[in-house]
Amino acid sequence: MKTYDAIVIGAGQAGAPLAKKLANAGKKTVIIEKRFYGGTCVNDGCTPTKTMVASAKAAYMAGKSHELGVPVKKFSVDLAAIKKRKDDIVLRSRNGGLKSAEKTQNLDVVLGEATFTGEKTVEVKLNSGKKQTITADLIFLNPGALPLIPQIEGLNEIQYLNSTTILDLEEVPGHLLVLGGNYIGLEFGQMFRRFGSKVTILEKSERIVSHEDEDISAEMQKILELEKIEVLNNAQAVKFKQKAGGKITATIAQKGEERKIKCTHVLVAIGRKPQTEALNLPIAGIETDEHGNIKVNDKLETSAAGVYALGDAKGGPAFTHISYNDYTIVYRNLFEKTDYNIQDRPVPYCMFTDPQLGRIGLDETGAKKLGIKYKVAKLPMAHVARAIETGDTRGFMKAIVDPDTKKILGATVLGPEGGEIMTVLQMAMEGGITYDRIRYCVFAHPLYSESLNNLFMTLGD
Ligand SMILES: Cc1cc2nc3c(=O)[nH]c(=O)nc-3n(C[C@H](O)[C@H](O)[C@H](O)COP(=O)(O)OP(=O)(O)OC[C@H]3O[C@@H](n4cnc5c(N)ncnc54)[C@H](O)[C@@H]3O)c2cc1C
Repeated sequence: MKTYDAIVIGAGQAGAPLAKKLANAGKKTVIIEKRFYGGTCVNDGCTPTKTMVASAKAAYMAGKSHELGVPVKKFSVDLAAIKKRKDDIVLRSRNGGLKSAEKTQNLDVVLGEATFTGEKTVEVKLNSGKKQTITADLIFLNPGALPLIPQIEGLNEIQYLNSTTILDLEEVPGHLLVLGGNYIGLEFGQMFRRFGSKVTILEKSERIVSHEDEDISAEMQKILELEKIEVLNNAQAVKFKQKAGGKITATIAQKGEERKIKCTHVLVAIGRKPQTEALNLPIAGIETDEHGNIKVNDKLETSAAGVYALGDAKGGPAFTHISYNDYTIVYRNLFEKTDYNIQDRPVPYCMFTDPQLGRIGLDETGAKKLGIKYKVAKLPMAHVARAIETGDTRGFMKAIVDPDTKKILGATVLGPEGGEIMTVLQMAMEGGITYDRIRYCVFAHPLYSESLNNLFMTLGD
């Protein structure tokens, strides 16, 4: 058995930087990765999808550039070339991360699958077929999550796609049926519509992006429908059937009625589940909840002393920046004598539909639930000079403020560069800059963020 100061399981957005940081601080560290260095973000998540979203935007712009006086007579989408560009970018990032880890002193990179065989003891089934047993006082779990696949009659008999396998298509689907109207389903749905597919999105609840305010869901649906994407709310697939080599027939239940949709491809995008089963956590005294998420306290400590869980596998907001921030919290608390916890941090996010949906802090629904005094500032993108000039006035900006303290409590920006505009508001929130001050800030003209003046003018007090 080999002894280390620290074991890191999973080279995701927390594990990879944490392992390097520990090793650079002189701790004898091992990082175990069973698949690809960099985890979901680099290989199956943010990097490949945002690379392909850029291609989809190019196709969209080619289709509407005549509106700007530059008619593109004919264009085509080469999905094989789009995939190759995506693969090149992913590989560069994956290999760069792996090489940098392998060059790090005090850090061993072990490629294989880790399983606990006892408290603080981990067995690794190496990719070479051999086994290795290791131990350490400090163990950091960053195993991430996988697509959740529902039990639907006939689903396993068709070759359905998930958010990972859809990245490898080289031919544009004729008709893509997307199960799930949240950020993964909407990003892929819009992307493939722009590549030329007919797209139908099924959402089980009464509206897409149902965790956002109702006006955001309605505007998002309007935006998707403008691109002729069919959005079916209150709709669930209950059965799939496919004749050999033929089209897939999906039976859809919607508002108590059943109908059939014929499609060529099905994308399952209903959520993700923690990748914790293979770790055999109970033997190490590490508790999970009923969904398999690793239970942690506010400092990311698990039920086993000296074992921490970071990233998606602990449940909660599943974003790259949250996983990365988990690493900085755990590391600083352990080695820099700080006292950070995960409750105190902001949780911004951006959905990379076009236009983007950027969100930070409280929304209107949240403010109502809390029963606090609040005001809503709202500005349509049609009133934003930059949006008018660039020819894209879809969406609106919205902020929730405290009328007494004048503090900004949250913001949702659905519009071009919505994520960037949201970040400006996040900085104001973090710096305690009140909305009455932003009204009169001098921003460069004509930037999207300049319109934050006007956003807060709408409050009129
Ligand atoms: C399609 C898609 C798009 C996304 N887009 C965004 C986005 O735009 N912005 C954003 O912030 N987030 C996005 N996300 C989410 C983001 O990718 C994750 O939140 C982020 O990667 C954090 O993951 P992690 O660090 O928890 O684990 P991961 O990155 O998933 O890493 C976990 C690693 O652990 C390894 N592992 C698991 N079990 C074992 C074991 N037993 N032994 C050894 N190794 C093991 C896995 O192979 C994996 O490499 C997206 C996700 C998807 C699927």
